[in-house]
Amino acid sequence: MTSAAPDAPVPHTHGVQFVGPDVPSLADLQNCIHCGFCLPTCPTYVATGQELESPRGRLHLISAVLDGRIEATERTLDHFDRCLQCRACETACPSSVPYGRIMEDARASIMANVPSQQPASWRVRAFALRHVLARKQVLRFVLDLGRLYSRSGLQTLARGPLRRLLPAKLARMESSIPRLTQTPFRDTGTLASPPEATARVALLLGCMHGEMFPRMHEATVRVLAHAGCEVVAPPTQVCCGALHSHAGDAETARALARRNIAAFESAGVDAIIVNAAGCGAAMKEYDRLLRNDPNWAGRAERFSHSVKDVLEYVATRDFAHDLGEVDETVTLQDACHLAHAQQIREAPRAILRAIPGLRLQEMRTPDRCCGSAGIYSFVQADLSAQILDAKMEDVARTDADIICTENPGCTLQLQAGVIRTGMDAEVRHVIEVLDQAVSAGAKR
Ligand code: SF4
Ligand code: SF4
Repeated sequence: MTSAAPDAPVPHTHGVQFVGPDVPSLADLQNCIHCGFCLPTCPTYVATGQELESPRGRLHLISAVLDGRIEATERTLDHFDRCLQCRACETACPSSVPYGRIMEDARASIMANVPSQQPASWRVRAFALRHVLARKQVLRFVLDLGRLYSRSGLQTLARGPLRRLLPAKLARMESSIPRLTQTPFRDTGTLASPPEATARVALLLGCMHGEMFPRMHEATVRVLAHAGCEVVAPPTQVCCGALHSHAGDAETARALARRNIAAFESAGVDAIIVNAAGCGAAMKEYDRLLRNDPNWAGRAERFSHSVKDVLEYVATRDFAHDLGEVDETVTLQDACHLAHAQQIREAPRAILRAIPGLRLQEMRTPDRCCGSAGIYSFVQADLSAQILDAKMEDVARTDADIICTENPGCTLQLQAGVIRTGMDAEVRHVIEVLDQAVSAGAKR
């Protein structure tokens, strides 16, 4: 590791400048006092030891592009691409530098250039996210192919006898593909209506998690009902747009945000519940995303205030009554977008500690990113694997039977880590473990 001052930016040509409505704020950038407190918390700096793979280095590059000292060339953008957008640097920063929004704005301002000037890999990524993730029918078709792969036995072969024959990189990528053997969760309308309900909440179904992790939604609905909530799912809701924002496609993110605001407003609920930390963080920031749209700014602000992570919300309700025993050792991987973006760390721990019989065994760095970061594990496979290996070493020290987390992307990544290391552990959302305690209590 090095603690050197930021490398002097190297002037490049044939790059682009920041343009459009989302250019990073100079005032935000000037808050950085170059102290370097963020460096040891940054997974890409820890993995590479390079200043330009650190928050301070990337902020320096963004400042240099902003004031025209350099253009954003492919080399500069590679440094942006290697950022996980985990926002651990925000938690560490004594100067409250809003790194997450600076990086999102920088990406949006690159993508606001005319298409022929946008970096080719960014254009392809934005196209795929816009035309697959944001389109339910297309996404479902792709996932149906994945389901065929899982159910046909090909995936079992690839993870068993054929694994040794696959090139290492392909085997690693394969272990990141989820097992799609369960029936997807696509229910809408009223999902639970307990007679003693004292609140009415709406659930975000999300683009991927109901398809990949249906049990997470089923558990969420049962736990919310146990905590006295009527649960509905507005049928016209869409993908939250988080990955589009992270990829710099602010226009698609804004279009999705408007559709979700309209969908959830009509549900008339006390809170909008999200069980995926990345989606929740993005939805809590719809107010900023739509701040310049006079027709939507007020509605977005009201919407953002009503968004709650499921664990944040459940922890405020009477959830701990009639719980049965869960005799397991559990470790908790804080999802970056819960711990750093939403600053929620205590609620999942309070819930786990309330479960009889459960032993919570903390990692040394539970809030260090696992290397998932949306599509990062595919587009930055080597660095992601390096970060995951460090995470799995930390997990191994806890001897946990269950690795808990709060985000589907982390679940996928940690499952890949379990496969690669041959560890005997399950990966589950905290809400699924609480649901197990609720079911055990009901059987007594
Ligand atoms: S967001 Fe994460 S990976 Fe990116 S600079 Fe900050 S700490 Fe490092
Ligand atoms: S901790 Fe904050 S102020 Fe210090 S170098 Fe990092 S971003 Fe800048």
